[in-house]
Amino acid sequence: MSHDNCLFCKIASGEIPSTKVHEDEDFVAFKDIHPAADTHVLVIPRKHVETLSNCTQSDAPLLGKMMILVARLADELGCAYTGGDTGFRTVINTGPGGGQEVYHLHAHILAGPRPWKRMG
Ligand code: AMP
Ligand code: ZN
Repeated sequence: MSHDNCLFCKIASGEIPSTKVHEDEDFVAFKDIHPAADTHVLVIPRKHVETLSNCTQSDAPLLGKMMILVARLADELGCAYTGGDTGFRTVINTGPGGGQEVYHLHAHILAGPRPWKRMG
């Protein structure tokens, strides 16, 4: 899908509304519209990258920052791993084989009491 017609580019720019939980120069995080768990947030780069398979060495800083942001947001959302049975799940679906529906790179943050709904 082209950048011009990308749902998550439109969410990042604010053209399509979302419930944002974080915004900075490089990333936006917002609540998944069909949550599979009590906490279900999507973290996206503002840069349009279609899939993890499209990433190259030059995207390493972006991906590194994205993972650090995932951990920081998990902390802010109250689901960081702090011992015991705490923690969260991070999912990046890639391509049809991985169940990807929106072709703009995104990491799911999932947490909360089981059961969770099926994703994809
Ligand atoms: P994936 O299957 O990994 O591509 O995940 C895409 C996710 O985007 C799904 O969990 C959808 O529920 C979510 N989603 C689709 N449209 C929106 C939207 N307008 N706002 C927030 N989340 C969305
Ligand atoms: Zn996009």
